[in-house]
Amino acid sequence: MSQTFNPSDIAMLRTDKRASLTETVQRWKSDGDSVALVPTMGALHEGHLSLVRLALKAADRCVVSIFVNPTQFAPHEDFDSYPRDISADLQLLQSAGVDLVYTPDEADMYPSGKDSAIKAGAAAKGLETDFRPHFFDGVVNVVHRLFDHAQPDLAVFGEKDYQQLMVIDEMVQAQSLPIEITGAPIARDAHGLALSSRNAYLSAEELEIARMLNQALYKAAQDIQGGADADAACDEASALLLNCGFDKVDYVSYKPEWNRVLIAAHIGKTRLIDNAPTTPST
Ligand code: AMP
Repeated sequence: MSQTFNPSDIAMLRTDKRASLTETVQRWKSDGDSVALVPTMGALHEGHLSLVRLALKAADRCVVSIFVNPTQFAPHEDFDSYPRDISADLQLLQSAGVDLVYTPDEADMYPSGKDSAIKAGAAAKGLETDFRPHFFDGVVNVVHRLFDHAQPDLAVFGEKDYQQLMVIDEMVQAQSLPIEITGAPIARDAHGLALSSRNAYLSAEELEIARMLNQALYKAAQDIQGGADADAACDEASALLLNCGFDKVDYVSYKPEWNRVLIAAHIGKTRLIDNAPTTPST
């Protein structure tokens, strides 16, 4: 059955005004409703929608923010070409039962410049930071601002960006924010490829190669779980990726404190990340 969308309902779902967001959330809270925030950069897919479903299970109201945050991109990265499709996003979010979509522009997010006193903590050390040194300071800067605007009771982030989840959890504790951080499992396609807005960059041939990422990852995680030497298992995964067509592997790394193997690799102009647990799933 096809669903029809009423443009005025969709317009009512969206606000780009901080004051209107804050006022609506305060009204909900004074009615006794709990409020979840799901921060995104748009170009939404099933992975984002799984976060929304989790948010709506955990809270009475769900706000989704869509903001492609310039401070987490380096000048040579894909800020300008990052996929943007606000009308498709709004339709998806309306169907998912979201209560409000916050779409601030850059001036709303950074009215007095992009500098921030908030810096990423110890969880940001290594991995992504070795290759994207600007990234986590940009993330905590924007997430802290979004939390300030929305004042949610809880916020949902994907385990797809596992280091990011750890960095945000640490920031919330360091700042003593009264916000519960919930991690959502990684949504994958039928071939196990983690869903990502950046998968849209992949050609058909690159997509075939991309599907090896989770296979190499899971093999390394299983080998480590079975007692193999972690460095050797990670090196083997890295060699496998290069063999099957990845152009560059930024890292394959085992973090015992997170019980995870984390991976980042490039195919052509696309950089993909993924991770898997090294503990048996229950
Ligand atoms: P992004 O729009 O890429 O910044 O992602 C917004 C949120 O969605 C982040 O918390 C991501 O970790 C999460 N996310 C993105 N892709 C997935 C996925 N495949 N599975 C679970 N969460 C995801």
